[in-house]
Amino acid sequence: MKYNVIPNSGLKIPAISLGFWHNFGDETPFYKQREIVRGAFELGITHFDLANNYGPRPGAAEENFGKIYAQDLRPYRDELVISSKAGYDMWQGPYGDGGSKKYIVASCDQSLARTGLDYFDIFYSHRRDPETPLAATAEALDYIVRSGRALYVGISNYSPADTKEMIGYFEEMKTPFVLHQTNYSLLNQGDNDQLKEILSQHGAGCIAYSPLAQGQLTNKYLHGIPEDSRAKSDSVFLNVDGVEKNLNIVRQLNEVAIQRGQTLAEMSIAWLLQDKRMTSVIVGASRLSQLKDNVAALNNLEFSKEELAKIDHIVNA
Ligand code: NDP
Repeated sequence: MKYNVIPNSGLKIPAISLGFWHNFGDETPFYKQREIVRGAFELGITHFDLANNYGPRPGAAEENFGKIYAQDLRPYRDELVISSKAGYDMWQGPYGDGGSKKYIVASCDQSLARTGLDYFDIFYSHRRDPETPLAATAEALDYIVRSGRALYVGISNYSPADTKEMIGYFEEMKTPFVLHQTNYSLLNQGDNDQLKEILSQHGAGCIAYSPLAQGQLTNKYLHGIPEDSRAKSDSVFLNVDGVEKNLNIVRQLNEVAIQRGQTLAEMSIAWLLQDKRMTSVIVGASRLSQLKDNVAALNNLEFSKEELAKIDHIVNA
């Protein structure tokens, strides 16, 4: 594994991290979850990314992680960076959602209880809450660290302008802000160039979520839609129509990957990580073999100018 340092803190994060959004809920057999987590750790993946609402059944992924932690990982706590988040709808009533201190502190305590951890390494605001001033959410995250609930803080899904404002508050309070977690892949570039620039100016890191566009940037859908895929599941975030719409681009990207001697998944991860401002990519996995494939991306993170131009041309055509 390659570990990238976040300049403002010295914290090292594996170039490939494991996310618990899918495949760690009530519907996935526990033995499979355990195999993926233990296998990940053996591959050098020392960063596990949770959130209060990951499931299905919101909270289930944290509970399952907690079981695996108790059975297998507790002796290795100091070798792990474990993150969680609060921001989306979690419980009924006015205090179970958003960016207020009331919600963030209560949710962090619930997440600690579900996982059985004494503290998180990184605790995130999962999204900007339009009803809470950014300064108030920044202050809530600062409190999370000062009260010993987490070592560092992060934000996720914030626009470049909101990120700049949040960094200003964190710098005033000396809050250890380390990462912005953003939706970033060859199929979804958004305003991440701007974001990376702002973060690197302040020594903070950038960590990509859904780097494989939920499986679309792998060879999984090249020859049809497998029954056991996320696109065929009842996910509201990925469906067959969406996959088919991108297939032409995906097939062309696959040709470039073949010419590079990589799988499409490897090339898609390498493309994100070739930018030194990127700290890590958080992949998901429904089986351990996928993680092994994805880690192989680290064998070649270099791209020629011609390859980059070809890729740009394909995704922006
Ligand atoms: P990916 O883009 O890595 O998609 C993962 C899925 O792609 C897997 O479940 C699997 O799909 C497929 N896959 C992965 N590797 C391979 C491979 N080598 N070959 C074939 N198929 C493969 O990431 P996710 O969308 O799962 O997101 C990753 C993490 O990012 C989440 O778990 C979460 O921690 C974080 N996240 C954060 C968000 C935020 O708002 N901050 C939002 C979304 C995610 P299949 O199940 O079909 O086999």
